[in-house]
Amino acid sequence: MHKTQIDLPYIGRFAPSPSGPLHFGSLVTALASYLDAKHHHGQWLVRMEDIDPPREIDGAQKIILNSLLAHGLQWDGDVMRQSERLTTYQRVLEQLAPYCYSCFCNRQRLNTLNGIYDGHCLHHGKTEKEQTDKRNATKESKYLLTPKSSTRLRTDIFDNKKEQITSIETFNDLFQQQQKQPLQTHSGDFVLRRKDGLFAYQLAVTIDDIDQGITHIIRGADLLSTTSRQRYLWTILQSEPSISDNINNHRPLPEYGHIPVASTPTGQKLSKQNKAAALDNTSAFENLCRAFTFLHHPVPNHISSKADIQLLLAWGIQNWDRAKIPKETSIIAEQ
Ligand code: GLU
Ligand code: ZN
Repeated sequence: MHKTQIDLPYIGRFAPSPSGPLHFGSLVTALASYLDAKHHHGQWLVRMEDIDPPREIDGAQKIILNSLLAHGLQWDGDVMRQSERLTTYQRVLEQLAPYCYSCFCNRQRLNTLNGIYDGHCLHHGKTEKEQTDKRNATKESKYLLTPKSSTRLRTDIFDNKKEQITSIETFNDLFQQQQKQPLQTHSGDFVLRRKDGLFAYQLAVTIDDIDQGITHIIRGADLLSTTSRQRYLWTILQSEPSISDNINNHRPLPEYGHIPVASTPTGQKLSKQNKAAALDNTSAFENLCRAFTFLHHPVPNHISSKADIQLLLAWGIQNWDRAKIPKETSIIAEQ
């Protein structure tokens, strides 16, 4: 019998990329995922998504973790680091090979597709195995230290199982309205390993969410449109017996809740890239109060006057109410 979410203890997570220090927007996400977990007597895990070394800033991991602690956000268990899980990603990727193909499209061609891949290399290329065999058989192969291709996952695997694909592409978000994200119009066949050889976010995040037994994913709405890809991959990983040997199996799809992202007055997401100010840990209490306000949980005077972080978080855990979370996908945050 299949387990449902209801049978499982709540496990949530916060999964920062160490591309810079925490800023107000990431504090909002950390706080929302923490409160939702603790309100439901769950665990709250932290995972460092450090699989993209070119984007990593030295020391950012430590700064992020210190900042979480300074804001009273203590995680459960050990911090997982994606950089320590590369062999797992590789093994799973190899097992997904029958569903994958190599894509040799250049950036110029991809730019014309607006992020929705048209299956060009599936229809005009060869299977990954044929391509590898061919490369190995040619003299030039010894010069190709890294193959100049990305690995894409076909999105037509459940084409003859209408119910299955509908339940992947259609889901109720805890905060946003019901979602319908057809893979064909959201991404098309998507990348699991990038051209530069790095594992793609979609692959790593899904394997880790399964392995860590995550039941609830509370994160920024900038990731809302990636959700059906992750649900699709999750379903494949759960339905392939040979793959499930490598990762925890029998994990039902998690619940998703996408909170509004904090944006600049011009509508850009506050991010490390657009130089959002790093959180000042010496004003942790004030930062948290602002984050509560952003999440439409204004802090009452008898709590805000005490300036006690533990008291504030305890109040937040008790009074967390999903129905109060604003439904927008983006809200301007005063810097
Ligand atoms: N590492 C991602 C980020 O910092 C978040 C991944 C997720 O929550 O699924 O944007
Ligand atoms: Zn291609």
